[in-house]
Amino acid sequence: MTQIKAFWKETSKGKWQLYFDMNKDTYALRRKVMDLIYEIKKIYPLPRITVRITEDDSSILGVGRIGANIIWISKSAVKNTNLRTVVYHEVLHTVFGVRHHEGDILMAPVLTKGLTKKQCQDRFLYWIKRRKT
Ligand SMILES: [Zn+2]
Repeated sequence: MTQIKAFWKETSKGKWQLYFDMNKDTYALRRKVMDLIYEIKKIYPLPRITVRITEDDSSILGVGRIGANIIWISKSAVKNTNLRTVVYHEVLHTVFGVRHHEGDILMAPVLTKGLTKKQCQDRFLYWIKRRKT
């Protein structure tokens, strides 16, 4: 069991944010998230996205700050079989500013069931298209 070091850091907007030091464990978890981001890049170009792995916080699987190209994914979400769905969801938030839509399979505020790769990709492209019109 490796210790995770957490520290506070001031953001460019003057807010304090909790960060976690990358050790071997978190690095491997981060890799899994990055792999999914590369998977998305194969179907749609993305800017560079910062990925942070966080300690588990109640029921929050991930956070994607609107328009900031940064996502936080909790450790348990990375180990969850629905990680793909969480990553596609957070990327739509942070890169494309897509907000929650009640009842949507990908953008509902609460993830009720994991999607297949094809479902994730189809729904992702649906939201990209919809955002442009
Ligand atoms: Zn969300």
